Amino acid sequence: MADTWLEVPPGSPFPAESLPYGVFSSAPGGAPRVGVAVGAHVLDLAPLLDDTVFGRASLNPFLARGPDAWRATRGLLQDLLGHRSRRDEVARHLIALSDVRLHLPVEVADYVDFYSSLHHAQNLGRMLRPDSEALTPNWRHLPVAYHGRAGTVVVSGTPVVRPRGQRREAGDAGPSLGPSTRLDIEAEVGFVVGVGSEPGRGVAVSAFRDHVFGVVLVNDWSARDIQAWEYVPLGPFLGKSFATSVSAWVLPLEALEAARVPSPRQDPPPLPYLAPGEDWGLDLSLEVALNGDVVARPPFASMYWTPAQQLAHMTVNGAALRTGDLYASGTVSGPAPGQQGSLIELSRNGATPIRLPRSCRTPRLPR
Ligand code: CA
Repeated sequence: MADTWLEVPPGSPFPAESLPYGVFSSAPGGAPRVGVAVGAHVLDLAPLLDDTVFGRASLNPFLARGPDAWRATRGLLQDLLGHRSRRDEVARHLIALSDVRLHLPVEVADYVDFYSSLHHAQNLGRMLRPDSEALTPNWRHLPVAYHGRAGTVVVSGTPVVRPRGQRREAGDAGPSLGPSTRLDIEAEVGFVVGVGSEPGRGVAVSAFRDHVFGVVLVNDWSARDIQAWEYVPLGPFLGKSFATSVSAWVLPLEALEAARVPSPRQDPPPLPYLAPGEDWGLDLSLEVALNGDVVARPPFASMYWTPAQQLAHMTVNGAALRTGDLYASGTVSGPAPGQQGSLIELSRNGATPIRLPRSCRTPRLPR
């Protein structure tokens, strides 16, 4: 545990070594601004550090400053929280988490979603294309992805309206339009780009840390009925674009040093521009809960392609990065039962019900 004078409740998701950044507002109608979560509090950075970059309604201006500034700010915060002598100057800028409203932390520039879990790709391939190879021929040679809709990325907790769309289920005489009857979740980890890149110049695997600031949790909501009917030949479209939820907190890469592990062996070895380089496998344990009941624990360390390889691939054609770009890992699914990050996998495409221990309770209807 990092040393701090601040009392951090046991089991808090925000220990002093994490220090994730977010955008919050306090009083009703108060201006959104940048804060850091620690223990049961948000640290109000603009007055504490006397820096207007933290008075803005998104993290983007701070992210654009680059890795030296990210490192210096984190060092300063660790110093302020680590020394009892700094307590008085810090304590008056602590606001209880229970008193704040959280906003989308990043103005999302472009949004890309990968498909980098071998187990997820195999599971989906078997369900969607039962008569052919589970993995497409390109899958082990490049991190497959599509461009999603940046404008519908929302902060976790934002209500999502059930999407309508065109679908055609097996046995239907023709397509029909209506609300999705197979709305799914996808548990993913997203990577937030801080520093952009020049058009025409790819970003090397080794430059990952020069561009990527940190990670968010992502739920790539997916309407399976709409998706299954529309996705050939150009991939996901309206089955995905209605909403993507991200966590309110962006955890800096620096906070993940202890989680770094070798990525799984890649066979065949990828082309040289995708050579894995430094270890950027991340030993993160995700949890998927439905109404409070954990139904899956997907292990991120099982991902086939690393975020550094994904970044190199999405720029190898010369496409430039922008501050605020978000790219997600793809559904995280491990090899064992209970490690799948989507309901279509956990329920074997609806064949096996997912039992919730608490589902027999009488639901409370909102008044
Ligand atoms: Ca996805």
